Amino acid sequence: MEIKGLLRDTLGGYRLNEKEATGLLKLRGRDIFPVLSAADQQREMIAGETVTYVRNQNIHITNICKNLCGFCGFGRREDDEGAYCDDLNTIGIKTRLALSRNVTEICLLSGVHPGFTADTYKNILSMVHETAAGIHIHAFSPDEVSHAASKSGLSTMEVLAMMRNAGLGSLQGTAAEILVDSVRKVICPNKIGTAEWVRIIKEAHRMGIPTTATIMYGSCEQAGDQVKHLSILRDIQDETGGFTELVPLTYIHKDTPLYKKGIARPGATGMEDLLLIAVSRLFLYNFRNIQVSWGKLGLKMSEIALASGANDLAGTMFTDEVSEDAGGDQAGYLDPHMMSTISKDLNRPLRQRTTLYELL
Ligand code: SF4
Repeated sequence: MEIKGLLRDTLGGYRLNEKEATGLLKLRGRDIFPVLSAADQQREMIAGETVTYVRNQNIHITNICKNLCGFCGFGRREDDEGAYCDDLNTIGIKTRLALSRNVTEICLLSGVHPGFTADTYKNILSMVHETAAGIHIHAFSPDEVSHAASKSGLSTMEVLAMMRNAGLGSLQGTAAEILVDSVRKVICPNKIGTAEWVRIIKEAHRMGIPTTATIMYGSCEQAGDQVKHLSILRDIQDETGGFTELVPLTYIHKDTPLYKKGIARPGATGMEDLLLIAVSRLFLYNFRNIQVSWGKLGLKMSEIALASGANDLAGTMFTDEVSEDAGGDQAGYLDPHMMSTISKDLNRPLRQRTTLYELL
C-alpha cells in the first residue's frame, strides 16, 4: 500500500475502502504520523478549528443488568454486592443536582434491568423531563429499546415513540460495541445482534430522533472487524444522516470478566487509540464530529487525539461509574478551565455546544 498517495487522494475526496482502512489501522512506528496528520487536515476541512464540549451530567439509574457483558465491570446481578436501582425520587434528586450545575444535557446511563418495561422507561423520562424542562435528555440504547419492546409486547418503533413523547431528545448509539456478530458472541452474547441494532438506529433516525454512534474497541476484535463496524456506520449515515457524532470508546480492561478470564487483551495501545481516531476521521467522510472520551483515554492522550482527527472534547460529565467500575481511574468531572488549557495548547478555540452541536 502506498500510504502517501492514498492519504493525498483521501484528502482530495477519495473514499477509502475497507481493505485500505484496515491497512492503515495496522501501521506502527513512525508510519502512523502521516496518517494522524492527514486526519487532522481532514478534521479541519470537515469540522473546522473549534474544539467543542457540552456541559452535561451523567445520571446512573441502575447497575442491575440482564446482559452481563464480558467487557463490562459495571453490570451486576440483582443479588450481587453493590447492586442498586434508583427509584424515581432518587433520580429526581440527581436531576435537580444536575440542574444546579447549569447543564444543557442530562445523560441517563443504565444497566438493562430485567424488570424494566416500556412504562418504566417512559416514567423515568417523564420525571426527568418535567423536573428539568428545556434540558436535552440523551438516553438509552437500541438494546434497551429492544428489551422494553419485548417486555411490553410493543414494536421498537412504538417504544421509540413513547420515549420521544416522554421527553427523549436523542438516543444513545451505545450497545454497538463491535458490529460483527462473531465478535459479539464473545464480548456481549446477550445483547441484540448487529442487524437489530442497525434496524432500531435507522428507525430512530427516520422518526427524527438523532443518535450518537459508538465503537468499543481494544478487547477481542481485529482491525478488520473495526473497519467492518465503521463501514456499517458509514452506510447508515449515507442513508439517514441521523448520527450526530462518532464516540470511540477504548476498552478499559482491568476489572472486567473477559480480561480476568484471559480472553481479552489489556486494551488498545496508545498507537492503536490514535490510529482508531485518525482512520475513523479519514474513513467516515460523512461524519462531522468525532469525540474523544477523556474519561477513558485520559487528558494527555485526549489532547493528542484532538490533533489526530477528533474535534470534540465530550462533556463535563461529573461522574462516570461505568469507566470507574471497569478500573478506569481518570473519569469524573472535567472543568471547562482545564479544557481551555488543552485547546490553547492546540492553538484552537474552545466553544460550548448543545447536544446537537449548535454553538452557545
Ligand atoms: S455494557 Fe451495558 S448491557 Fe453490558 S453489562 Fe454493562 S451495563 Fe449491562
